[in-house]
Amino acid sequence: MLALMSLWQVRSEIGIQLKFNLVASDGRARAGVIETDHGSVETPAFMPVGTQGSVKAIEQRELVEVGAQIILGNTYHLYLRPGTDILDKAGGLHQFIGWDRPILTDSGGYQILSLAGLRNISDDGVEFRSHIDGSLHFFTPERIIDIERTIGSDIMMVLDECSPYPCSYEYAEQSNELTLRWAMRCRQRFLSSEVRYGHSQALFGIVQGSVYPKIRERSAQALGKLEFDGYAIGGLAVGEPAEEMYEIVNVCSEILPFDKPRYLMGVGTPENLLEAIERGVDMFDCVLPTRNGRNAMFFTRHGPISITNAQFKDDMFSIDEGCECYTCGHFSRAYLRHLFQAKEILGLQLATIHNLHFYQCLMGEGRRAIASSTFHTWKQEQLALLRRQIPAADYQS
Ligand SMILES: [Zn+2]
Repeated sequence: MLALMSLWQVRSEIGIQLKFNLVASDGRARAGVIETDHGSVETPAFMPVGTQGSVKAIEQRELVEVGAQIILGNTYHLYLRPGTDILDKAGGLHQFIGWDRPILTDSGGYQILSLAGLRNISDDGVEFRSHIDGSLHFFTPERIIDIERTIGSDIMMVLDECSPYPCSYEYAEQSNELTLRWAMRCRQRFLSSEVRYGHSQALFGIVQGSVYPKIRERSAQALGKLEFDGYAIGGLAVGEPAEEMYEIVNVCSEILPFDKPRYLMGVGTPENLLEAIERGVDMFDCVLPTRNGRNAMFFTRHGPISITNAQFKDDMFSIDEGCECYTCGHFSRAYLRHLFQAKEILGLQLATIHNLHFYQCLMGEGRRAIASSTFHTWKQEQLALLRRQIPAADYQS
């Protein structure tokens, strides 16, 4: 124990702020625990997206009930609104939003670079206009770290440039070089700046390089040497075929440090998650369960269903047989369909609860399958179920 403690102290002194304990592995799939000052996150982990300090249509206490151990915030959005002065006065984002579990903040590079015509990238940083009021702002890698310090997220992300898809090899190469230079500057600022609210903060690097394995390899190797607390694989799920995404995940997993968490940004469908876990990914975030839920789509073990279909008009069964969420425990498909038809906001809330619970359960079952060395077989069974196109009536059997 003493030896372990002294090792941890040494790691802390060189700037490693996060503990990642691998509990089990099965092939490349890993089950682990990320420890932060706001509690533990069991991996594989799905992180609900709370861009503006709120996961849409669900309360913080319900997030706890569905099993969310960590949520996302977005630096770009939180900087513009409510702004760093308010977050500073509140004592950080955890206090401001009443959430005492871990928070990861994306830098917002992806959002800024989506502002076509509203931004200008240089080596120094990125100039952009607010999507809210058109005001002009400038983010440098250092400024992003300062803002994330004020937000107080447990896991901060570096500023990166997410290449559009498709893009040329030359573009992806230059973009990745810029991302690497920015990553170094973020790391420097991280090491020379202080925490604001008494809890430690970690910093993840982001591998870029579009769909080009050679660039991804170079990116992963260079970032690995910078000793980040964890590593994200960015720039995927932007329109490329799933097989290309899986190939890039394979390339990155082979190179990224084994003892650090790996986070596949913005992914994805239940099938994407299972395939990526098998390739060594530990963390995910995606708007799919929440956004699709608000559009009346419910994820089930037998594939997604659109609750507004007429066939559910008088269907008194729950959304997903065997689901233990609040929605499935109390309400029928007919009632949920009625809520959406009548445009009652409760429908959005109940759909979000079910879909997030579905994602959390999938991660939990995957974790248990890894621990029992049955991940591949379990995954194949789940995929076969998810791909079944069967009439709704058959769900009840
Ligand atoms: Zn449910």
